[in-house]
Amino acid sequence: MSEAMRHAWANPSSPHVLGQAACAQVEHSRRIIGDQLGVPAKWVYFTSGATEGNAWVLSGSAHPVVASAVEHPSVLAWSDEHIAVNEGGVVDLADLETRLEAGPALVSVMAANNETGILQPIEEVAEICAKHGALFHCDATQAFGRYPAPIKADFITVSAHKFGGPRGVGAMIAKTPPRALLQGGKQERGARAGTLNAPAIIGFAEAIQEHRCWTSGERDKLEAFCVKRGGRIIGKDHDRLPNTFAVLFDIPGDLLVTALDLNGIQASTGSACASGSTATSHVLEACGITGIPVRFSFGPESLAGPAIDALGQALDNMVETCV
Ligand code: PLP
Repeated sequence: MSEAMRHAWANPSSPHVLGQAACAQVEHSRRIIGDQLGVPAKWVYFTSGATEGNAWVLSGSAHPVVASAVEHPSVLAWSDEHIAVNEGGVVDLADLETRLEAGPALVSVMAANNETGILQPIEEVAEICAKHGALFHCDATQAFGRYPAPIKADFITVSAHKFGGPRGVGAMIAKTPPRALLQGGKQERGARAGTLNAPAIIGFAEAIQEHRCWTSGERDKLEAFCVKRGGRIIGKDHDRLPNTFAVLFDIPGDLLVTALDLNGIQASTGSACASGSTATSHVLEACGITGIPVRFSFGPESLAGPAIDALGQALDNMVETCV
């Protein structure tokens, strides 16, 4: 990105030489993102992140938006009805089928949950949507770059900052884009107005190429430390992301998170978007769980070598101190 700030700082929509140099790098980045998602580059539309992508896909829907009850708030803001989930937060496919019998709909189900790491059966969701002629949007923000599953949907939204890329850039993937949310200029082939942030887009593509997928071994090790101290892992028996989990202790999660922070370990009680709130999250509520969990998420660096043991020991001590 530092390189790009020096050599691709010009407006990529400008016809002059510097603009075209930036444009070439943006288009190269578009091809990389498309390849990673298994779609042609022309299906990739750059956005300011998943919040914008979700609003773009859902806000102008001509049909009711049927979303799972555990979606990110940037999806729930546009939803008309909620698909039930089981006690592990996994969508109830029978409930989805019943809802789709009512008529045309736009279904929104995330690939992986941001608070619990639980994976949704998106292949089955896609099949059910196709059977009923419904459109399918998948918020793949948590899964893209972390979990190598193919995603087949009419609309996919992703964000760069989930795998080490810059904040404030993402993409909306579609064969046919929805009506423009941001209107004005003719950038992104007229589908999304606004000058493209070339250095951020280039950083996005670099990050997705450099990322390494996580393995669940280290997560399991850290979970074992939690369980030893009486922690209850949310959705433990379900397929989950290898790098995110939420755990409930008898001690309120906000207290533990503060204690951990003072000891150099940064965790959270839920999603960063809900920071400051100590109410039970809508995700836990939908699963029928009360309490404030501690949510851990990590990258390959934080799991390297003995780090995980040190983290587990520190967590062990913290829980004991807080009791
Ligand atoms: N969707 C999910 C599942 C997320 O986890 C997030 C962010 O954490 C978003 C959407 C919003 O993404 P952004 O911060 O890029 O707007």
